[in-house]
Amino acid sequence: SPGGNVRVVVRVRKFLPRGTLPNAMRSKIQNQTECLISMDPHTQMTRLQAPKRSPYDRGKPKSQARGKVLEDKSFTFDNSFWSHDEEDDHYAHQEDVYNALGEEFLDHNFEGYHTCIFAYGQTGSGKSYTMMGTPEQPGLIPRTCEDLFQRIESSPSPDISYNVRVSYFEVYNEHVRDLLVPRTDPPHYLRIRESPSEGPYVKDLTEVTARNYAELMKFMRKGDVSRTTASTKMNDTSSRSHAVFTITLKQIHHDLSTDETTERTARIRLVDLAGSERAKSTEATGARLREGSNINKSLTTLGRVIAALADPKKTRGGRKGKELVPYRDSILTWLLKDSLGGNSKTAMIACIAPADYEETLSTLRYADQAKHIRTRARVNQDHVS
Ligand code: ADP
Ligand code: MG
Repeated sequence: SPGGNVRVVVRVRKFLPRGTLPNAMRSKIQNQTECLISMDPHTQMTRLQAPKRSPYDRGKPKSQARGKVLEDKSFTFDNSFWSHDEEDDHYAHQEDVYNALGEEFLDHNFEGYHTCIFAYGQTGSGKSYTMMGTPEQPGLIPRTCEDLFQRIESSPSPDISYNVRVSYFEVYNEHVRDLLVPRTDPPHYLRIRESPSEGPYVKDLTEVTARNYAELMKFMRKGDVSRTTASTKMNDTSSRSHAVFTITLKQIHHDLSTDETTERTARIRLVDLAGSERAKSTEATGARLREGSNINKSLTTLGRVIAALADPKKTRGGRKGKELVPYRDSILTWLLKDSLGGNSKTAMIACIAPADYEETLSTLRYADQAKHIRTRARVNQDHVS
């Protein structure tokens, strides 16, 4: 069968110096001395150990503790990346994550498949570090860009030409904003359209050609600056927004002996999701609530889409004409429809912090469900003449 399951991997980060904890985590009662995660490099099993005392009861005398019993839990994923302590033999560097996942997905792109890798997890768990990284420790996105042009430039062939295009947008509060155009006040939002051949897409989204790695990086940085500028101005936008970086690789193959031209088009989608704690945040009030509930909408709908896709009753033999998977209920799931349940090879990276039992358990359960999703990737190839 051409179908394949969503590849699900998990990565645990190190302890952070207390002062550098993101706002969303700082307010929490956190015991940063006890790592609750262990990973078995042979079986890839990830184990979440219950904290010795419930975080709700910490600091209270034993007699007043609510005594909520937390259990140890184990999960097995396709890969488990141990990025907790660098002294460990099995420590997973940025390069290791790329070699285990990014490289293979880029192979698929050159074969003509669409791919999507998305990072899921609470704010501060390492999503942006894994996807974008830092200048010293580049993540999956810059490594994919570099490898892409290295492959193109190292195989000069007279009968293949390449076209690389890039777009970058974010979904914030159920609005789509182009990250490759300057910010305006009021912000300019884009609409979504659906075409029979291409599916849902963002109308009028900037898509630019990159002729080399340096140009591609320039666009990546431009979009990233636009995203982070907003986050300092608007109170942690980056933890509330979903960022979608897309590269379109077109290979035009002209067979000199038969004079036939074929085109292969692959879409490489790399997604940094909003912090998953938002999906159930209850503190918001008033205007914040309206904003919050919309932000929740994309994440909660993503949860419902994943649950529906993981349930064989909903994907097979559903009643005709009835949409059983609620893609259209949020902007994010509508736009990622193909990546989640259609023509794409897809991976989810579940990012977890080392000492947050409740959030980590919720992330691992989410990831466990995603393992059951099958997509139907096909080679996107057309005869042009
Ligand atoms: P998120 O995007 O999920 O909110 P970040 O990627 O911003 O979280 O990570 C929070 C902090 O932790 C950042 O300072 C980041 O550099 C650091 N960090 C995350 N993962 C790692 C890791 N594997 N190794 C070293 N530092 C990490
Ligand atoms: Mg982030």
